[in-house]
Amino acid sequence: MELNQKVIVVTGAGRGLGRGIATFFAGKGARLACVDLNQEDLDATVAACEAAGGEARAYLANVAKEEEVEALFNNVVADFGTLHGLVNNAGITRDGLLIKAKEGELISKMSLQQWQAVIDVNLTGVFLCGREAAAKMVETGVEEGVIVNISSLARHGSFGQSNYSAAKSGVAAMAEVWARELARYNIRTGAVAPGTINTDMLAAMKPEARDRLVQAVPLKRLGEAEHIARSVAFIFETDYFTGRCIDMDGGLR
Ligand code: NAD
Repeated sequence: MELNQKVIVVTGAGRGLGRGIATFFAGKGARLACVDLNQEDLDATVAACEAAGGEARAYLANVAKEEEVEALFNNVVADFGTLHGLVNNAGITRDGLLIKAKEGELISKMSLQQWQAVIDVNLTGVFLCGREAAAKMVETGVEEGVIVNISSLARHGSFGQSNYSAAKSGVAAMAEVWARELARYNIRTGAVAPGTINTDMLAAMKPEARDRLVQAVPLKRLGEAEHIARSVAFIFETDYFTGRCIDMDGGLR
């Protein structure tokens, strides 16, 4: 798919990787529907997309809420007239060990709230947006559609992240399911699993802690949002790619 003039929804676009993906796509002339929970963050992303040379609109929606996601995709199609792509990027963490014990005494357990919050956004949110996007692509009769889910290196099992690892493994699996189910409508899919990426969260870390993360990467440097954006764009632009997950991790795995 040639990205110029294509209508692409990016969730979690208010900051971090989502903003990086949206602005990179804007630089290729795409028309962005930027989705997040906070208007100010979205306004900054829209400005960044416009500065990069693309068109962008802001949409407030919680990807975990069915009615909000349905309204979101109705609004996007009402505003842009069509839909060519979706990047399922919104995500949260609520880390905790499954159980913590010392000398046979249980100290803590991962709470159901911790589990459910991450499953709601990172797994159900991806399902809801993927479902509505595919439905709109078919209804509006686009020639070709693309859906990319942002997974994580944690999909292989990450300490203290039962909830997050389960969801990130799940979104890579959904990309495989959708590749099979949606090929008949000429909708391709894929996933990108970032390793350790240089976002605000990492910039705010203590230098020693940050250095430990860097030293664990064989390439001895953190990934940048643009590495993830370029991987997502590769999936969009490569018409024989569907269903697979790209590990973009500097060799970490
Ligand atoms: P971030 O926290 O900087 O940004 C995530 C954005 O998603 C925020 O703007 C947030 O408001 C939005 N969001 C959260 N819940 C939402 C909801 N219910 N509805 C709509 N928007 C919501 O995170 P990031 O580092 O940019 O990560 C983006 C994606 O990449 C996430 O899925 C994350 O799991 C994944 N990822 C990040 C890294 C990394 O190193 N940064 C590594 C692997 C995977």
